[in-house]
Amino acid sequence: MTDHTNESILSDAIKEDQKKARTDHMKYMPGMEVLESEIQEQVITAMNEYDYETYTAQDVRRALNKDHISPEDFAALLSPAALPFLEEMAQKAQAETRKHFGNSIMMFTPLYIANYCENYCIYCGFNCHNKINRAKLNGKEIEQEMAAIAETGLQEILILTGESRKMSDVKYIGEACKIARKYFKVIGLEVYPMNSDEYAYLHECGADYVTVFQETYNSDKYETLHLSGHKRIFPYRLNAQERAIKGGMRGVGFAALLGLDDFRKDAFATGMHAYLLQRKYPHAEIAFSCPRLRPIINNDKINPMDVHEAQLLQVVSAYRLFMPFASITISTRECARVRDNLVNIAATKISAGVSTGIGSHVEEIEDKGDEQFEISDGRSVDEVYDDLKKLNLQPVMSDYIYV
Ligand code: SF4
Repeated sequence: MTDHTNESILSDAIKEDQKKARTDHMKYMPGMEVLESEIQEQVITAMNEYDYETYTAQDVRRALNKDHISPEDFAALLSPAALPFLEEMAQKAQAETRKHFGNSIMMFTPLYIANYCENYCIYCGFNCHNKINRAKLNGKEIEQEMAAIAETGLQEILILTGESRKMSDVKYIGEACKIARKYFKVIGLEVYPMNSDEYAYLHECGADYVTVFQETYNSDKYETLHLSGHKRIFPYRLNAQERAIKGGMRGVGFAALLGLDDFRKDAFATGMHAYLLQRKYPHAEIAFSCPRLRPIINNDKINPMDVHEAQLLQVVSAYRLFMPFASITISTRECARVRDNLVNIAATKISAGVSTGIGSHVEEIEDKGDEQFEISDGRSVDEVYDDLKKLNLQPVMSDYIYV
């Protein structure tokens, strides 16, 4: 009988990635712009020092009684001691939202123009080892998709690719922005992090803002989740928003994927990252996304650390109170009920008519590539519009005017 106990059952591809995993995730790869910035160290130091168990009800009450929330108050609002105050927090967050945004809620839709990816993030359905249908739209298809989306009345689009510089190079993304400019007033990008001159080029092509998910700010955990590819380089990702601002982007978005690691520390680091950049670049428009980890195809390696609805509301309310002017987006990973609840309290932006597959707004290019994750809110643009009205909220397609 053969003894299999010492035999590896890992595929060659995974073994190869394990080797690459020894790459120092804190060391920049050739071609990556090194930004001399103090922000990363400040964020990581603040996060490491954050001990949420030390906060008390008194700290939370003190924070809730203030007009302006300090980083220390923000820390208290994210602590377990704040959970019994959730109703009060949500009410204060709602009042703050109405003060700065009225009852306006911005609507947009994401368009995945490609799903090639060179990274191995073990929690994502697009990762380079996952056997999914890969595809990218050509210029004509991008135009068809955008025209179909614009027909629904939307005026803001978020362009996404997987993270493959090879298959979705900067020029390709730039061409997509130029096409988008014909149909939309606001163009966002959620693509791989790049250098500031590349952001400047994409801004010239029409892009207004850039969102980069840091996923987790715990670099030790980050290393275990991002096994290969350029995404493995933690500081290059963390400094992406600052490079985007230097490249001339009007706005930048931040997010931790809540549930990957300790969500309180990650939410605290996300808020501090945005806060410190806002202080350094007061003109930059700041946005938060609040994704929670969701199930994906072919993945049983990830056990999300539970972030329940109450904790999600706590994070969103704390973001609002700490950064009163920031835009907050709630993803279609959340169901319609949760999204409607959050836009009624603190979120200011909602997507509609969403598909995370490649080319699904036009029949002839339908089902070109697989979806990144399952969405929970499949409402059309009209349905989201009507549901916002029922909540006495005002759906807004764009507040940006070209003269
Ligand atoms: S999370 Fe992004 S970079 Fe990572 S595998 Fe998925 S698409 Fe690629």
